Amino acid sequence: TFESEIEFSEMKLNDQGLIPVIVQNYKTEEVLMMAYMNEEAFNYTIKTGKMTYYSRSRKQLWIKGETSGHTQYLKSIQVDCDKDTLLAKVEQLGAACHTGNPTCFYTPVAGEINDMSNPLNVFKDLYDTIVDRRENPKEGSYTNYLFDKGIDKILKKVGEEAAEIIIASKNPNTEEIKYEIADFLYHMNVLMVEKGITWEEILEELDDR
Ligand code: AMP
Ligand code: ZN
Ligand code: ZN
Ligand code: ZN
Repeated sequence: TFESEIEFSEMKLNDQGLIPVIVQNYKTEEVLMMAYMNEEAFNYTIKTGKMTYYSRSRKQLWIKGETSGHTQYLKSIQVDCDKDTLLAKVEQLGAACHTGNPTCFYTPVAGEINDMSNPLNVFKDLYDTIVDRRENPKEGSYTNYLFDKGIDKILKKVGEEAAEIIIASKNPNTEEIKYEIADFLYHMNVLMVEKGITWEEILEELDDR
C-alpha cells in the first residue's frame, strides 16, 4: 500500500469531479497515456497499488488491465503546481494503449522537420539519404559518384578524412576539426551503406561492450 501525503479533496477537480492523470513508465520515462480519476479511483489506486481510473465512456470505475491483463502498478504519484493534474509513474505490463501500442501517443501531429535533439536522429537521416541516393541516383550527386567509383574509392576517402582530422587537431581553432569530423562521419556512413551495416548494429555492438 501507499501513503498519500495530500488528500484528494485538496486537488482542483473539473466540474465532473475528475482530475486528469498523466501516466508515465517509471523506468523509461515514456509517457504512456492520459486518463481521469475520481475520488474513488484515486483511493482504490492508493489502496491496491493498481492504477484505477474513472471511465467517462462507461461511467464507471476502471481498473486498468482488468480485461486486457495490461495492468499498471503504481510507483508514485505527483501533483502539478496548481494541483489540477496528476502524474503517475507506473510499472506497465504489456501495452498501455487498447490498440496494442506501447503508448497511446503514437500519432504524430506536429514536430520539427529535422529533429536534431539527438545526434542519432541526424545520423539516421543522413544514412537514409545515402540509401535513397543509391536507389534513386541523382544527377551530379557526390554520393552517387562515390558508389560508382566503388569500395576502394570510399575506403580511400575514409582514410583521407581520418588523417585530416588528425592534422586539423593540431590547430587550436576548432572550426576546422568540426568540418573534418563531419566529413569523416559522412564518408563513414557511405561505407556503412555500401557494406549494408546499420546504425542499430553499431549501437548494439557498443552497448554490448
Ligand atoms: P483494460 O483496462 O486494458 O483491460 O482495457 C479495458 C477497456 O478500457 C478497453 O477495451 C478500452 O476500451 C479501454 N482502454 C484501455 N486502455 C486504454 C487507454 N490507454 N486509453 C483509452 N482507453 C483504454
Ligand atoms: Zn507551474
Ligand atoms: Zn496544472
Ligand atoms: Zn490508447
